[in-house]
Amino acid sequence: MTDSGEEKLLNVSEIQHFSTGDGPGIRTTVFVKGCNLHCPWCHNPETVSPLPQKLVFSGSGKTVIYGRKMSAEAVAAEVLEDREFYGADGGLTVSGGEPMLQADAVSGLMRILERDGIRTVIDTAACVPWEKFAPLLGRVQTFLVDYKTSSDETYAGQIGGDRETVIDNIRRLIGAGETVRVRVPLIPGVNTSDTDASLMCGQLAKAGVKTVDLLPFHRLGSAKYTAMGKEYAYAGISPPDAETVSRLRSIFAGYFDCFVE
Ligand code: SF4
Repeated sequence: MTDSGEEKLLNVSEIQHFSTGDGPGIRTTVFVKGCNLHCPWCHNPETVSPLPQKLVFSGSGKTVIYGRKMSAEAVAAEVLEDREFYGADGGLTVSGGEPMLQADAVSGLMRILERDGIRTVIDTAACVPWEKFAPLLGRVQTFLVDYKTSSDETYAGQIGGDRETVIDNIRRLIGAGETVRVRVPLIPGVNTSDTDASLMCGQLAKAGVKTVDLLPFHRLGSAKYTAMGKEYAYAGISPPDAETVSRLRSIFAGYFDCFVE
């Protein structure tokens, strides 16, 4: 790798234009491939494997290949095509998958876009060694960081990660002066009890978090599992009802600026 890191290739799953749910304003979202976790409710199952994948959608019969290696320059050129729509708040979001597994390549992309004044957001589950964040510090508008449960057991088992690593990274990002918004997916049967919510609030408040977005579970990723020929473990799980979301929001709002997406 050179000093700039710009020749590193990004493993891209998909580039989505005019996104409105991946950070402030209108954004271009680059979904990268490869994730080190395996949340059974994952909405983007095609991003978990680093290998290219063919999805065949029933009904339309449409076939889509997810996964291609792209230079930072090629991704930047596609992002810059959308710049007139960004306005005061929008820009690029890198999501996944886990962008931090490709931190050098992502950093190369950010360096190019910085020259054009494009604001950038990273959407991460943050279950990576702290050193991975080094190339991105000081060049990201906001880190959107998932925090999935207060339970070490659930992180280690169902999710396949380490909760302490995640909370430690959140603490360090805030300590380094980065803007962090924590995103908590509300997954029925996993983290929607008052006890789990209160414990998460305590852990996040101690780490210095100020803003939390709650993301109620939905089944929109279901068709992708079918198109991959896989069973979706959450196919029969209903989204949390309005009363549950409101109850959890009032718990989180006791600690943070709290928004429901
Ligand atoms: S961290 Fe995100 S991309 Fe990875 S498995 Fe979990 S929900 Fe899916």
